[in-house]
Amino acid sequence: MALNISRPIGTEDVVPKNVHKWHTVEKIARETAESYGFGEIRIPTFEKTELFLRSVGETTDVVQKEMYTVKAKDSEFTLRPEGTAGTIRAMVQNGLLNEALPQRVFYILSCFRHERPQAGRLREFHQFGLEMAGSPSPAADAEVISLANTILNRLGLKNIQLNINSIGCPACRAKYHEALRSFFEARYDELCDTCKERLVKNPMRILDCKSPICKEIGKDAPIILDYLCEECSDHFEKLKKYLTNSGISYNVDPRIVRGLDYYTKTVFEFVTNEIGAQGTVCGGGRYDGLIEQLSGQKVPALGFGMGIERLMIVMDKQGCDYLTPRKCDLYFAAMGDAAYDKAMELTRVLREYGYFAEYDLMGRGLKAQMKYANKIGAAYTLVLGDNELSSGKAMLKNMETGEESEIPLNDKFIGCFDAFYVDKMLNSFDDGNAASPLISFNGE
Ligand code: ATP
Ligand code: MG
Repeated sequence: MALNISRPIGTEDVVPKNVHKWHTVEKIARETAESYGFGEIRIPTFEKTELFLRSVGETTDVVQKEMYTVKAKDSEFTLRPEGTAGTIRAMVQNGLLNEALPQRVFYILSCFRHERPQAGRLREFHQFGLEMAGSPSPAADAEVISLANTILNRLGLKNIQLNINSIGCPACRAKYHEALRSFFEARYDELCDTCKERLVKNPMRILDCKSPICKEIGKDAPIILDYLCEECSDHFEKLKKYLTNSGISYNVDPRIVRGLDYYTKTVFEFVTNEIGAQGTVCGGGRYDGLIEQLSGQKVPALGFGMGIERLMIVMDKQGCDYLTPRKCDLYFAAMGDAAYDKAMELTRVLREYGYFAEYDLMGRGLKAQMKYANKIGAAYTLVLGDNELSSGKAMLKNMETGEESEIPLNDKFIGCFDAFYVDKMLNSFDDGNAASPLISFNGE
């Protein structure tokens, strides 16, 4: 029967045969973050709308056009469009900032933005992100950028460019805003309506406008780097030195301002030109004023968000390796009631030892059971019938080589199976089948 309700536009399903791609990205991101001292945080999917207005910024596209705000009875909430606001809220509310600094947390979560869906741009998408609170040092910026860079490298991605910029602190930004205002005022009539408003409230936002005309005009606008105060300029110089010392190549792009208002000093993006216009796989920076703005506590912080779907588009395009999905270790093909009981019993034993084992649940004949075992890629099969039961032995078939070996069906069964299994694993290492960088990285 045809389904007459389909998923909402801009959302995606992940079916079991693809979920290993998610597990790969999540595992590598998680293990890398942990090796840099970050612990996982989990926060609600929705927050009070005001939290996003006050952090993401009222003049940003996200707040002006993209938020999913839901009213339920007498309350109103917004589905998180990004992870930073909720995470900072949770860090403050749970007293993390009163513990030893820096506090470092990472998250894997869904975000919701009402954007025009296209390749790499969804309405529900997922981010791996992190926040570090407490350190004002440019070494923290280098640490966070290096972490993102390590994840991208471990995923096997190539040709990803790191762009960095400094957008200064409120002090240097005031002078820059003046310069931008006089620049854009001269071409006021050509700006889009939103940017006319931005000119008054937040002129730097014009540089992030997606309209081609505003983009074109913005090309000749003054650049922030010429307006940095001594402290911000020194911070940026040190960051560049640390990146160079760590062997991380970067490009200074004075046009990056990022789409959220809370950034100060460092902003950065990891970008690829291989997947069209949606090429930013990671965006982040420093937001020294955000925590104070939300809680009054003066604590500098920084972080980034990585778009998981975008990462996977690039990984697929570049043919990167994923962790291999788990397959059946042993399939029992059984004929007759007594053999079927034995298959169930041995399956239970195997599972207790952590193996993936299966037997027929469809009432298939022996031939069809073997066909099924082939289809699911079982590593071994074992045929059980009256003969096997009376002799107490059966033939274990290695489905890859076709080789058959005798195995006892008594309490020695599991020990023998272990031995065959280990032998097969060692052989596949010898063949070089298991030499993918993912496997050596995981130490498996
Ligand atoms: P873009 O300029 O592409 O709109 P952004 O500046 O809005 O990105 P951030 O808010 O910094 O992005 O989010 C961090 C990351 O999340 C982005 O670099 C991107 O990889 C991913 N991302 C953002 N919006 C979407 C979306 N609508 N669909 C899929 N991924 C997204
Ligand atoms: Mg955006």
